[in-house]
Amino acid sequence: MRQSQLFTRTRKSAPKDEVAKNAQLLIRAGYIHKEMAGVYSYLPLGLRVQNNIMRVIREEMNAIGGQEIVMTALQSPELWAKTDRWNTAADVWFTTKLFSGTELGLGFTHEEPLTALLTEYISSYKDLPVYIYQFQTKFRNEKRAKSGIMRSREFIMKDMYSFSRNEAEFKEFYEKCAGAYKKIFDRVGIGAQTFRTFSSGGTFSRFSDEFQTVCEAGEDTVYIHKEKGIAVNKEVYTDEVLAELGIKKEELIEAKAIEVGNIFPLGTRFSDALGLTYKNDKGAATPVIMGSYGIGPGRVMGAIVEVLSDEKGIVWPKEIAPFQAHLIAISGGNKDVVAEADNLYNLLAEHGIETLYDDRDVRAGEKFADSDLIGIPTRLVISEKTLAEGGVEVISRKTGGTTLVPESAIIQTLVGK
Ligand code: ATP
Ligand code: MG
Repeated sequence: MRQSQLFTRTRKSAPKDEVAKNAQLLIRAGYIHKEMAGVYSYLPLGLRVQNNIMRVIREEMNAIGGQEIVMTALQSPELWAKTDRWNTAADVWFTTKLFSGTELGLGFTHEEPLTALLTEYISSYKDLPVYIYQFQTKFRNEKRAKSGIMRSREFIMKDMYSFSRNEAEFKEFYEKCAGAYKKIFDRVGIGAQTFRTFSSGGTFSRFSDEFQTVCEAGEDTVYIHKEKGIAVNKEVYTDEVLAELGIKKEELIEAKAIEVGNIFPLGTRFSDALGLTYKNDKGAATPVIMGSYGIGPGRVMGAIVEVLSDEKGIVWPKEIAPFQAHLIAISGGNKDVVAEADNLYNLLAEHGIETLYDDRDVRAGEKFADSDLIGIPTRLVISEKTLAEGGVEVISRKTGGTTLVPESAIIQTLVGK
């Protein structure tokens, strides 16, 4: 894409009321727009990143047998009264009314409607197990909104739900999903900072597992066991739990962290309340064992910015960057430079390398500063100087490392990275 066509542009400062580093940088670079506290729109660059994160998640969910659907935001209170979550979660719900006066809510999670939906499709042990997920907009009346896109009041969540015949079948999938989560966080570039974290559970399970990314802006406190690559959330940090996990206090490091994902045993809490049973091989009605598995792509994007950015701006990992290359022409009116840059832009497109091409008529310093802020992994610079030297300057956003590469080897250099 030609940068001259991009309707967004960078700005020197973020809105005064924006306190989170992730949102400050993302707003300044033109990825997101703040509508109000805790509510953000995704602009072309931001949407590209979010879509890339969602692609990674989708691939890993499909790989473990997930089937994708999309459910509705509008929810009827009747259903949620059956699990008592219409009233008990009253502070989280955003509600609205039909003309008739009937109250509705905007879903903050989807256990109830999906469990109810499945009562129409599950009847026999042959219908199970099933694993169903969606990328769907959740609404939550979050009390505080000071963490930028890591805690919004309207956000896309990937929520998966597992429906199994028994505990063993459930547990096997639960561990498989934990493995998929590890792959996801590795692929999006925060694997080294993200720990499977022992956390408190709900009514049906004492514990759940969170995936916590260590970062200063994190709202949770965790205790990390570096060698084992696991952590314990402060809320369950007791001698008893440590003994159960076979770890000692002295081996742990305290850190602030943000929950980027979690996996949760639900037992039969929802299947009991909503009547989701199957007939086992002896014909007896048996409640379905459930689990839930969430990740917020926006929160992941915010965490990546929090963890990987530097004093100049954002630094995107390759797999989720909005573009693979940032081509910068420093022409100073020289037509040969423009022609050469145009050629390279076309060549990159032919090879399927998504490129942001800074063809704007602005100072070199401004182009470089914008490029640092936007954070595309590889920068390609063409100028009179590089033409004279017979190549293209290739600069890594992460390391700043610069090499002069002959144009004939550019594709090889980018694809090989
Ligand atoms: P937290 O304790 O941080 O509020 P939660 O326990 O409410 O999180 P879940 O309901 O399990 O989170 O949601 C699943 C995932 O959705 C979280 O792991 C997180 O990645 C994401 N998520 C939750 N709340 C928000 C939010 N307000 N904004 C953005 N992402 C969110
Ligand atoms: Mg919450």
